[in-house]
Amino acid sequence: MSSFENKKALVLGGSRGIGAAIVERLSRDGAETTFTYAGSAEAAAALAEKTGATAIQSDSADRGAVTKTVADQGPLDILVVNAGVLVMGDPLESDPDAVDHMIDINVRSPYHAAVEAARKMNEGGRIVILGSVNGDRVPFPGGAAYSLTKSAMQGLVRGLARDFGERSITVNAVQPGPVDTDMNPADGPMKDAMHSFMAIKRHARPSEIAGMVAYLVGPEAGIVTGALHTIDGGFGA
Ligand code: NDP
Repeated sequence: MSSFENKKALVLGGSRGIGAAIVERLSRDGAETTFTYAGSAEAAAALAEKTGATAIQSDSADRGAVTKTVADQGPLDILVVNAGVLVMGDPLESDPDAVDHMIDINVRSPYHAAVEAARKMNEGGRIVILGSVNGDRVPFPGGAAYSLTKSAMQGLVRGLARDFGERSITVNAVQPGPVDTDMNPADGPMKDAMHSFMAIKRHARPSEIAGMVAYLVGPEAGIVTGALHTIDGGFGA
């Protein structure tokens, strides 16, 4: 029997990058998996076709859409909140609407999604939220707004772990360093600067992050909760 047989999973933001790798991993290991996307309909359809997962268009910037999508799933065993955006740049020049939009997706949505999921979540359920090593360390200018969204995930998982622990529901953050995706391509202009901070000087593959998520939502991690799991090639060491 595979690890996630008879488990129902929802991945928010699963059409591309790390989220798509998580959808592939959970589906491959037997979970009945649904994932959301906002704009990438073609990528979502291709991933659904490849994995057998179900794709739903649902904008994580819209609280009502997020809570409805989660509630419509019924009792979940696994919720992964991966949807995120990156707004970088001089805070004196940044568009405040873009910053607030990022806060909607990166902060408000994980909170409301996790709370909504917990209403009906099965005993022993698993909630994982994608943070970032930038929640701990910001070694260059221009990252203040993004980093605040990822630091917020640290308080969120610690607090919700306390709220839901009685039902053996675990709540954890995964904090990647640089990962090769559309958001942060391995051949992008920041690569040398980022690698200079790392002990292992390469971007991670999305599948490596999915492996950590799979452990945290799997049967061996029932006592792991309220914790930050950094996977960053030593970026924050
Ligand atoms: P990508 O930009 O490659 O992919 C983002 C995914 O999130 C897409 O599937 C996208 O769907 C979805 N998404 C974005 N906005 C929304 C929205 N409003 N509603 C629904 N889905 C949405 O990012 P990554 O894979 O690199 O990042 C995934 C997560 O990991 C993010 O939370 C990010 O902050 C975090 N992270 C990434 C790092 C990296 O180096 N790549 C490092 C540390 C953390 P669609 O295309 O359909 O909009």
